[in-house]
Amino acid sequence: MRISMVSEHASPLAAVGGEDAGGQNIHVAELAAALVRRGHEVTVFTRRDSERLHWEQRLPSGVALVNVDAGPARAVPKDRLLPYIPEFAERIARYWAEDPPQVVHGHFWMSGIACIEAVGALQKQGLPVPAVAQTFHALGVVKRRHQGVEDTSPAERESLEPWVARSVDRVIATCPDEAFELRSMGVSQRRISIVPCGVDTEKFTPDGPARRHGARMRLAAVGRLVPRKGVDTVITALGLLAESGRRDIELVIAGGDASKDRIASDPEVRRLRDLAAALGVENQLIFAGQVARDEMPALLRGVDAVVCTPWYEPFGIVPLEAMACGVPLIVAAVGGLSETVVDGVTGLHVPPKDPAALAQAVRTLADDPALRASLGAAGVERARSRYTWDRVAADTERVYRAMLDHWEWPAADVEASRGRLRRTEGAL
Ligand code: UDP
Repeated sequence: MRISMVSEHASPLAAVGGEDAGGQNIHVAELAAALVRRGHEVTVFTRRDSERLHWEQRLPSGVALVNVDAGPARAVPKDRLLPYIPEFAERIARYWAEDPPQVVHGHFWMSGIACIEAVGALQKQGLPVPAVAQTFHALGVVKRRHQGVEDTSPAERESLEPWVARSVDRVIATCPDEAFELRSMGVSQRRISIVPCGVDTEKFTPDGPARRHGARMRLAAVGRLVPRKGVDTVITALGLLAESGRRDIELVIAGGDASKDRIASDPEVRRLRDLAAALGVENQLIFAGQVARDEMPALLRGVDAVVCTPWYEPFGIVPLEAMACGVPLIVAAVGGLSETVVDGVTGLHVPPKDPAALAQAVRTLADDPALRASLGAAGVERARSRYTWDRVAADTERVYRAMLDHWEWPAADVEASRGRLRRTEGAL
């Protein structure tokens, strides 16, 4: 199949861990690469956010990456990208007119708009149109529910996101909780498929180098440094444990800006540090800053448990990475986390924003090395049997095929349109 993925703000090339680069970047890069391994032609379209990037490049995975000029060739926060989406869509439409995909797959709501607009432009020109799949990665309605006035999404998201959900051929939800939200938005059940995110089980393994540590129990919280990830809940739990005389626990916080200097002035780091100081646990925290992809398995292997207590979580790749490394988890039972981490089997569930419950769960794991080992071993099993990118790609391919089964793909017309465009001098 000729597959085009559109991921406006999340390039497969970006360093992850900063404010706007995380799970979506990994998902797009790994899914695209796994689809190439299955013999498909995959092109990823993202916004060109640096002068140094060329228009088109081939990634080592065999994926073609097109860096589309739309807006300034520098980083722009994703919540300010909407004005550039029409230009982004127009350029993609021109590319597709010349090199038509059979399936297009939008990632995030604004890419969904770009896909629909670009396909509409093809239709207007009488060119063949591809089937359109959409993965949201996050839903504005959920974000608004939890973040209220702190949500910096453009106001238009409220109406445009449901419009995307209802306009595409198929919405791919990453967990049952997201499917429920989509149905509440008016998306019919038969147009929703559930395919989870994955983990690279060759890199994230229980064996291999580990970042060593001393005698204290070491926890890790890994992710973009934004308040909704709930790292403050973990720090408050450390405060409660310290009050009860347990100071033998430390927390590594991985994520944030790539630059060590900027980490110190990051407002979220300051907020977390101030909280830790107020609770008298500041010397139990280690801010690791942004950890490179290649170093993440060693960081995970070197800790006794990974703690993920976000307010909400559309999917959450970090728990898969921890499980694949054989590390037990404590997770807030929200969104995708309640599905991926099995309570009492691969980790412990706690309610979100509940430091007392989290402190109790930490104490349970701290006091029971055998339990940690058995949760870790079950995690490896679960990650390998259910969440490899190859399996995710096979499931995604099934969704694409199901869309195309009901699709009259006019192959002959494609060839005709290709020929016509090639003859039109300077058309693109
Ligand atoms: N990550 C990383 N370095 C960091 C922080 C995070 O490589 O310093 C990676 C992490 O290992 C995971 C991704 O960023 O692969 C975060 O994905 P997740 O789905 O957990 O959260 P999201 O960013 O989508 O909210």
